[in-house]
Amino acid sequence: MNLDGLHPDTLAVRAGTQRSQFQEHSEAMYLTSSFVFGSAAEAAARFSGAEPGPIYARFTNPGVSMFEERLAALEGAERCVAFASGMAAILATVMGLMRAGEHIVASRSIFGSTVQLFQNILGRFGVETTFVSPTDPDEWRAAVKPTTRLFFVESPSNPLTEVSDIRALADIAHDVGAWLAVDNCFCTPALQHPLQLGADIVIHSATKYLDGQGRVLGGAVLGNKVLMEGVYTFLRTAGPTLSAFNAWVLLKGLETLSLRMQAHSAHALELATWLEAHPKVERVLYPGLPSHPQHALAMRQQSTGGGIVAFELAGGKGAAWKVIDATQVMSITANLGDTRTTITHPASTTHSRLTPEQRASAGIGDGLIRIAVGLEHPADLMTDLERGLSRI
Ligand SMILES: *Cc1c(COP(=O)(O)O)cnc(C)c1O
Repeated sequence: MNLDGLHPDTLAVRAGTQRSQFQEHSEAMYLTSSFVFGSAAEAAARFSGAEPGPIYARFTNPGVSMFEERLAALEGAERCVAFASGMAAILATVMGLMRAGEHIVASRSIFGSTVQLFQNILGRFGVETTFVSPTDPDEWRAAVKPTTRLFFVESPSNPLTEVSDIRALADIAHDVGAWLAVDNCFCTPALQHPLQLGADIVIHSATKYLDGQGRVLGGAVLGNKVLMEGVYTFLRTAGPTLSAFNAWVLLKGLETLSLRMQAHSAHALELATWLEAHPKVERVLYPGLPSHPQHALAMRQQSTGGGIVAFELAGGKGAAWKVIDATQVMSITANLGDTRTTITHPASTTHSRLTPEQRASAGIGDGLIRIAVGLEHPADLMTDLERGLSRI
């Protein structure tokens, strides 16, 4: 199918589809570990790359390819490589593109396991990382070394929704011969296109909004063909492969991504506006609110504020836990990107491995609550929070 000029809404339901000889309308699922060749010559042609087609499911599966092509169309990328999880995608980016002795500059406000991966695991293999402020491009420039190959950022960040200037970071990275990778998990291509803003690599935890219903794990790396060849070679050799079943679920998730992200964002804005006016709430962090420190930047590089809202209560952990425990509709869980709203206390869960001093310097107070706003009616979410807020 020629995709040129098609609107993203059309690409989300049409791009990447391949049909078998049965001409199924909904995409088929290919639960097989290997594929049979018609002859020894065909087997040789497939292995040499002279003839396209599946070989073995560690690195070729038609369902996984359909998911990759559809996501690439939505991100505007030449190529996508799918993975078993978001963390596998991040690991493969480094393993596929870097070597021992090289250096990463990364935002301090990235996913906790990414920090552990960079610091504790890659550090043991001679890839060093310097962590800097997500909102101060000067710190990125100052952290550059002759060996710097990769800049790594997440925008907006978790849980404080700090917004990084993707174009500014891309310019600095390119000045020093490094690539910029953006973890686009919180916005998805429905709201933000990092490649159009100058980034070289986009990374996803497909586990979150791309699935959108909290069912499966998955990940993806996107970029130009040259970079993705390195990432794919790591996948093919090391095998952190997206399963055929998960690829099928994710392919379906992409069909409703844009509709869901619009609804998540609209509900989040309504909830954030209500929280900001609430006398018991100290401050609200949501990129779609004019009071957000990087609101103007957020509205330049994202089409809406997204689905994540954080807010702070004066009463610290006691007040936060009371509000969380009083909820009846929301789920108390750290996951996000689900149709169901989730509520979490970062200081005692996702960020509990930081010392109190590290948390304080990161701005994650004991009274901070993060909500990943789902698709329930916002009025029911307000009632749910009011149960606890009225008691503190
Ligand atoms: C969840 C998450 C990851 C890791 O993804 P998994 O699929 O859980 O491995 C990476 N980055 C961000 C921003 C995430 O929220």
